[in-house]
Amino acid sequence: MAAPRPPRPVCEVDRAFLELVGRPRSETSAASSVCSPEPPELRPFPVPRVGAREYILCNGHITDLFDELARAKGPRPTVGTDAPTG
Ligand SMILES: [Zn+2]
Repeated sequence: MAAPRPPRPVCEVDRAFLELVGRPRSETSAASSVCSPEPPELRPFPVPRVGAREYILCNGHITDLFDELARAKGPRPTVGTDAPTG
């Protein structure tokens, strides 16, 4: 009676990092993150490169991706009063 669940989509965080950040995720600060429990979804953002399709990302990894893109864009802020160390 139980309808079979649709298969969980694969989180495309690795492809997104390679294409948008330009580095493998394993070389970024988001390397150790794991997928959120919720199934990944097709996201309108971040916008993929021309010709590429949109990314399927979980909640945690879309945050990681935006963090990394913001970091890669501008110079790092030099204030470090509340920056975690270690
Ligand atoms: Zn994920």
